[in-house]
Amino acid sequence: MKRFSLLFVILFLSFLGAGRAGAEDLDQPYAAKISEYTSEKFFLTELVDHLPRAKGVPTPLEYLGHIVGAPDILDYSRDIHGYMRALAKASPRVQVFTMGPTDQGKEMILVAVSSEANMARLGEIRESLRQLADPRKLNEAQADKLVLNGIPAYWLTGGLHSRENGSPEMLMELAYRIVAGESDWIRSIRSNAVVLITPILEVDGWDRAVDAYRYGKAHKGKQLIHLAYWGNYVMHDNNRDVIGMGLKLSRNVLNTYLQWHPQVLHDLHESIPFLYISAGTGPYNAWLDPITINEWEEMAAIEVTELTRRGIPGVWAHGFWDGWAPTYIEYAAIFHNSLGRFYETFGGIGADTQVRASGDQSKRAWYRPNPPFETIRWSFRNNINLQQSGVLVALKQVADNRQKYLRQFLLKSRRSVAKPGNEGPAAYVIAADGKRPLAAANLVNLLFSHGVEIHQLEKEAEIGVDKFAAGSYVIRMDQPYSRCADMLLDIQYYNPKDPKPYDDTGWTLGPLFNVKTARITSAAILEQPMKRLPAPVRISGSLEKAPGTTVFAVNHRAENELFSLRYALRDIRMRAAEKGFSVEGKRFNAGSLLIPLKGNPADLPRRLEKALQKFGLAAIGLAAMPDVASHEVDCPRIAIAHSWTYTQDDGWFRLAFEQLEIPYAYVSLQDIRDTPDLRRKYDCIILPPGLIVGNVQRLVNGITAGYPIPWQKTAATPNLGSPVSSADIRGGLELQGVLNLQRFVAAGGLFIPIASSCQLPIDYGFVESLAIGRPKELQAPGVILAATVSDAFSPVVYGYERDKPLAVYFNRGPVIETGIAASMGATSDDMREMGDVPGKPSGRGAPRDPDLAQGRPAKVEIKGGGTGMEGDIKEAFDMYLPRDLRTIRVLLRFDAAAKLLVSGLLENGEALANKAAVIDAPLGQGHILFFAINPMWRMETQGSIPLLLNAVLNYRNLQAGSAKPAAGK
Ligand SMILES: [Zn+2]
Repeated sequence: MKRFSLLFVILFLSFLGAGRAGAEDLDQPYAAKISEYTSEKFFLTELVDHLPRAKGVPTPLEYLGHIVGAPDILDYSRDIHGYMRALAKASPRVQVFTMGPTDQGKEMILVAVSSEANMARLGEIRESLRQLADPRKLNEAQADKLVLNGIPAYWLTGGLHSRENGSPEMLMELAYRIVAGESDWIRSIRSNAVVLITPILEVDGWDRAVDAYRYGKAHKGKQLIHLAYWGNYVMHDNNRDVIGMGLKLSRNVLNTYLQWHPQVLHDLHESIPFLYISAGTGPYNAWLDPITINEWEEMAAIEVTELTRRGIPGVWAHGFWDGWAPTYIEYAAIFHNSLGRFYETFGGIGADTQVRASGDQSKRAWYRPNPPFETIRWSFRNNINLQQSGVLVALKQVADNRQKYLRQFLLKSRRSVAKPGNEGPAAYVIAADGKRPLAAANLVNLLFSHGVEIHQLEKEAEIGVDKFAAGSYVIRMDQPYSRCADMLLDIQYYNPKDPKPYDDTGWTLGPLFNVKTARITSAAILEQPMKRLPAPVRISGSLEKAPGTTVFAVNHRAENELFSLRYALRDIRMRAAEKGFSVEGKRFNAGSLLIPLKGNPADLPRRLEKALQKFGLAAIGLAAMPDVASHEVDCPRIAIAHSWTYTQDDGWFRLAFEQLEIPYAYVSLQDIRDTPDLRRKYDCIILPPGLIVGNVQRLVNGITAGYPIPWQKTAATPNLGSPVSSADIRGGLELQGVLNLQRFVAAGGLFIPIASSCQLPIDYGFVESLAIGRPKELQAPGVILAATVSDAFSPVVYGYERDKPLAVYFNRGPVIETGIAASMGATSDDMREMGDVPGKPSGRGAPRDPDLAQGRPAKVEIKGGGTGMEGDIKEAFDMYLPRDLRTIRVLLRFDAAAKLLVSGLLENGEALANKAAVIDAPLGQGHILFFAINPMWRMETQGSIPLLLNAVLNYRNLQAGSAKPAAGK
């Protein structure tokens, strides 16, 4: 009996602690704190309810003075990174690598944890993963050997979103646990995998979040600092940058991926309860290898099962994010045949314990049979427990099945190489048509940064009906990263009947860069003579100076570098041609720069040549000023406005301006409020989108907290106060600011509201004959649409082809109505309700046949001219018209419904068809330029940036070429 019960006890214990080895020396005080800080027993598992001890290796408690997940405490990056380095110092099982600096110069790190044996041959493991990533050079025996002896790498990343505070803390404890644990569970992970950890992806934002949290605690929760900035540029969109690669953190992640080739990249987020695992709702991205999708499903199913089995409620998958757009950080791995995935655990405010409501996620659904409770007392440690337990399950799964995951990685790489002979296409070609060589090179270089191989045709190639000149770029699909290139260059179709998209629906880079790309299915393209290009592609600039040159001409091809050139030579006088012209057989577009020797410094040719080489532009010396009207273009002073409520979207504008080396002032709405004479300081003020959270009156009224909210660098908040600083961020634009803006325009300034910000000058009466429509049936979320130049003389469209549609980015709205009806506040929707229906009336014939009214001649001949209204009759009539009806110019229009969609989701496009995309509204001596589209979005919309910069450069002459008089003249 006694022996039996002892056996029973042992069996029972080993059942409970499946992962624990009896020999482990445990840290009892640490375990007691874990239990104390966990709000409900069912939020604890046997994987994380204890902490092993290992001689000489510091626990988080020993290093930090508190356990991971202790209430009310967040640690700075220097302590989190410091702890990882302390582990590396104490144990041969850990090494810390630097990934490079953030946008503000802080260090990002990569921690590698594995067994001593694996760490001793880490270089060899990395090399074997690199070889598996490119199977073209492997025969079957070599590949088998690599799989047999290989060790997969699993990369965990935390702290991308600065308001999500669990993962950087959790990853310290996880690293320790893998170093110090001696359970079978941990040993298997250590021996059969390299665990890579980046505790904080957004280091700049993390330290700000810690500052703000500690400030709140120091003021006993009565005064809180609003986390106005996360990274230097953007907030949660740091998880939408992996296509455009604008942020240093994205580049560091991508480069680190390409150095290590981990089989999994697992990014840790916090939002919905209790633990959501990233298998999506669909539609899934259609360019993924189905194996990747199966791995999403399989891994999620294992984690849900394992955690549910342990009694944790509210662990689920599907039913949230869609799986469509490839903009998230884990696509750094997915683009390259690895698995990328994420968690969302229930977060909260910093390390607070709160009673939280689960909302809709507490409902049972087919994908959530065991939902979260409606309300729960939720502790920071709960969050740590769930993240860590899930991750330990995932790590064990990959470690126990290391050969399977390596073989699948190899297989996905092989299937990417086999694309041309299987699903296709064979290649994409960027034709060397000479139209926008710099834009084409920029697109090629972006693909290079993703690891894609690029070739160049050595001779002209004829593929079916297409002819491609020598020098055309070829992106072959028989390469390991073909899937990445295919995903970025192909056209997206998102069925409107599918579940609502989580983010952008179209991202096709060719149209967004205004570069023509051809999708080639014929394998003949692969047989053409071509050479592989080294990265990056550089277009060399040149200055062609014939004897007798008096003026240099730089052609305007709607490429961004032209504007960089203008600002690089600020003291040089330049003019813009108002029409296209030809000299000596060379064609120059309207807007081309004319740079005379006369009136400029004597060293102009030398300096111009240097700048041309830097930006890859060409200038040609002409004997005389061409016979074309022109106007002076100086370097206008630009201000980008920001609110303190939401700084998300203006970051993309700042980033674009900085990459083009065009200076700007970054001014708050309060600065605008407090500067009566804005015109004295600025020439152009840009109001980026995203500033209006709620209705426009809230933007005007601003933040109204009862206590001052500083955003300043102090001893207690050393990480705040950048990129801008304020002693008190309360208030907003206020009516004073609205008036200042109006005065700014009237005094000759250019005001550029973008997308949602167009509401402000419309609602506050800067203009009269514009209105914002809200067509209920239009669905156009984050989509690429076609627009056409509708006012060929405006400087805003300089460099663009007048007869070809331009692809633009549009996100849901605004739909801007123009004309008399708009001035009465009516939109097309209202008109329809009132009886006026757009398009052909119901009547005779086929849809495109002319309509015919009965009982009158079909057509009436016009004889002679009209006399019009004259004198006081006209004046009396005009009194009732909106003052700007005749002066407003629609410069760019969305295309007709049938041609509107380029890439993404569009439903009921009729509501947007032929509506204005860019509008120039003169006011007093100045202009307001309305952008219904967003020309500076996530570094992806490179092809529409010149619309904005043309307006800036020519802000004094926006009437150039217009037959219409300016208002007030
Ligand atoms: Zn997040």
